[in-house]
Amino acid sequence: MTNKINRRKFIANSAKAGVALTLIPSFLQANDSTNEMNFSQQPLPYHYNALEPYIDAATMEIHYTKHAAAYTKNLNEAVAAEVKSALSLEDILSKASGFSAKMRNNAGGHYNHELFWQTLTPTASLKPSGKLADALNNTFGSFENFQTALSQAALTRFGSGWAWLIESNGVLKITSTPNQDNPLMDAAETKGFPLLGIDVWEHAYYLKYQNKRAEYIKNWWNIINWSVVEKRFNK
Ligand code: MN
Repeated sequence: MTNKINRRKFIANSAKAGVALTLIPSFLQANDSTNEMNFSQQPLPYHYNALEPYIDAATMEIHYTKHAAAYTKNLNEAVAAEVKSALSLEDILSKASGFSAKMRNNAGGHYNHELFWQTLTPTASLKPSGKLADALNNTFGSFENFQTALSQAALTRFGSGWAWLIESNGVLKITSTPNQDNPLMDAAETKGFPLLGIDVWEHAYYLKYQNKRAEYIKNWWNIINWSVVEKRFNK
C-alpha cells in the first residue's frame, strides 16, 4: 500500500519537476518485498455537526476519532504481524477467514466506517437517480419497498452489526452482517460489493437515540449521499 502511494507521490513529484515518466529507473518503482502497508482514515467530508439533527455532533466525533480510529490502528497492527506481501484491503477481506480475529474485526471495521462516512452528506437528495434508481425499482418494486426492506434488515440485526445494499453479479440484494463483518468477506453469508451500509452498533446512535434504533434508522434516510452510492453501482 505505502509502496503504491510512494510511487504515486514520486510520479506526481517527478511530473511537477518535469521529469519524463519513462525515465524512472526500475529500481525506483514499487518493490513489494519491502512490504510496508499502512492504512489511514480519510478526512471526514463534513464537520462533526453537519449531520444534525439526524446524527449529533458528539456521536460523530466519538465515532470517527475513537471507534473508527481504533479499527484503523488495530488493522495496521494486524497487518504488520500477519501480512507477508502487499495486499489490498479488499484482498484481506476476501481472505479474512485465514487471518486472526483481530484482522477480521479491524479490516472490516476500517472498510465499513470509511464507506459509511462517504455515503453520508448534509446535502442529501433523499432519493437516488439514474441507473441505480431503475435497478432499485426493478428489484424491489419501488424505492419505498427498498427502504422498508433495508430498514427491516437494520432493525432486526441482533446485537452489533451492519445492514447493507450490495450488488452481486449484477443483482441488488439486501443483507446484514454481525460485528464488523462485511459482504466482501469469504465467510459472509451473502457475498457482494457493498453499495451502502448502515452501522447499527449502539455506538452509532446511543447518545442521541438510546434504545430507539428504529428512529435512528428512519432518520438516517435523510442524510444519504446517493451520488456516492450511484458511483459505486455504476463502476
Ligand atoms: Mn461504528
